[in-house]
Order: sequence, then C-alpha cells, then structure tokens
Amino acid sequence: MENPILLTWLNDFIFCPASIYFHNLYGDSDRISFQERSQINGTAAHSAIDTGNYSTRKNIICSMMVYSQKYGLLGKIDIFDTSNGKLVERKKHIQTIYDGYVFQLYGQCVAMREMGYDVKSLAIYSLDDNKSYPVLLPENDPDMFEKFKNLITDIKKFNLIGFKQTNDKKCRRCIYEPLCDSSLL
Ligand code: SF4
Repeated sequence: MENPILLTWLNDFIFCPASIYFHNLYGDSDRISFQERSQINGTAAHSAIDTGNYSTRKNIICSMMVYSQKYGLLGKIDIFDTSNGKLVERKKHIQTIYDGYVFQLYGQCVAMREMGYDVKSLAIYSLDDNKSYPVLLPENDPDMFEKFKNLITDIKKFNLIGFKQTNDKKCRRCIYEPLCDSSLL
C-alpha cells in the first residue's frame, strides 16, 4: 500500500510542494517554533477540537481520524453533526476561501462517506467574525472535484529533487524559509 496523503498536505501542496517536506520533517510539535503569531492563533483555535473538548452533544463528532482507501487520504475531520449530516472545518480567520480549504473538506467528505457517514452539506467557519461559508458537495461542483483529484495525482507524482519555486512572495511568507534550499530569498 502506498503511504497515505495527509489531508493537511492538500492545502500545503498548493502553497508550496516543498513545504510538505519540512512539515513532515518537523511535525506539528516542532512547527510551533517556526510559526508566525497568526498561524499559532489558528492552531490554538483548533486545540479544543483536537483534544475532543468541543462538545458533549451526542450528535457531534469532533476531531475524528478518517481514511479514504479510494483516494489514499488520511487525516482528521473538524466537526461533523450526525443529526443533519453537516461537515464543518473551522479556521481562525477567513478572508478568502482558498481552493486548498475546499479540497481539505472534500478529502474529509470522501473519507467520511467511505466510512459509512452520510455527509449532506459542507461549510467552512471563520471563528474571529463568526461567519459560515457553505461549500458545494463534490458531486455538485464537478470542476472543483476534478481539480481535487488532479491535486492528489500531482502529490503522488511529486519529486522534491529538481523542484524550483517561482514565486518569491511565497518564500517571504513561508515559515520554513530559513531551512529551505529551494528558497528564492
Ligand atoms: S521557502 Fe519557498 S520554496 Fe521553500 S518551502 Fe517555503 S515557499 Fe517553498
């Protein structure tokens, strides 16, 4: 069996494929020493969920590991409400719904469905301003779903050797820049 693709990579890969290498190398615990304040806040926003403290309501499932054999994806969901089939990913502050956010939700959705859960709707929730952004289900947005599948293929084929970053703005915002041989700075 191929190594699974972590759901967090779907967003990281779009930002920069090389960042996945550093994310793996340093993991989530060491990551904090490289993180900017805003990213640490975002991580803290997830901490209640990651420790399973978000809700004691029986219909709410938090921070559950999910796996899709079909797509080779592994990761955690954020919140799933079994009473209405709504799957939600919370972010600290949302200014733009990036494709990577949608693909992470798609990954959660296909994995949940393979595991037998009836996912009926998707949303991304911005904690700072209490806004919810609905996301179309994969079957209702074929173009995005095709991009999602292509992204998985690209991640499987990616080889760090020979990779060249072309956008120096990304390197300026990147927490791994001091360590990265591919940096343009
Ligand atoms: S420094 Fe640049 S090339 Fe290196 S991981 Fe960050 S964004 Fe990618």
